[in-house]
Amino acid sequence: MSTQTAAVSEIFSSLQGEGTHLGERHLFLRFEACNIHCEYCDELGKPGYGLDLDQTIESLKKLEQEKGPHGYVSLTGGEPLLYVSFLTALLPRLKQEGFKIYLETNGILWKVLEQVIHWCDVIAMDVKPASVTKERSFLKEHEQFLRLSLQKETFIKMIISKEIVLEEFQNLCSMISRVDLKVPLILQPISAEVDGHEDPDLMNLLSELQTVALGILDDVRIVPRLHKILGIR
Ligand code: SF4
Repeated sequence: MSTQTAAVSEIFSSLQGEGTHLGERHLFLRFEACNIHCEYCDELGKPGYGLDLDQTIESLKKLEQEKGPHGYVSLTGGEPLLYVSFLTALLPRLKQEGFKIYLETNGILWKVLEQVIHWCDVIAMDVKPASVTKERSFLKEHEQFLRLSLQKETFIKMIISKEIVLEEFQNLCSMISRVDLKVPLILQPISAEVDGHEDPDLMNLLSELQTVALGILDDVRIVPRLHKILGIR
């Protein structure tokens, strides 16, 4: 019996509703808490419960048997990299069980990424515009993170609201291009629900920003949250 625990808020099977792996079936392991506080966050405040390593692995294996096969175990949150000691124990065991690891992260804690990247197969990294999050800028941390992350399959997700400042958007795209202009950049509308996806002003803005970004980067896509549109959890 392991003594290591983490605050896990939910473990479930669903489709991957975001990014370049859209539509794949994943197992989701959601951790409580985050190191920042984005104004639009719909995950903060979900209570976590202490799960140890064995309980976590057993829950994932049970779901794999009931609803699998799954493409990946998606580590999500909150911010999974807050749980580094738990992850360095969990991830090698999940790999031994044959699972592939998909890390969803806010792309800030690059020193922690160094410790777990060995076991990751895909890294879905956020780049956070301060004009959207109302947090501080994380430009330098994002650049360090991206340089490391590119050892593995990586794409970047940027949440776009109508409050985004064009100069900041261009600076973030330029940072990405300094590291690797071929890494996919996903522009995702902020709206959590279907109605928001139908906001014509936001959709026009997304299209304009894609044009701007394609002047700097090779691969820029607009991808909404598919699970919200389909009404799948
Ligand atoms: S990084 Fe993600 S989990 Fe953390 S506050 Fe922002 S939206 Fe929420």
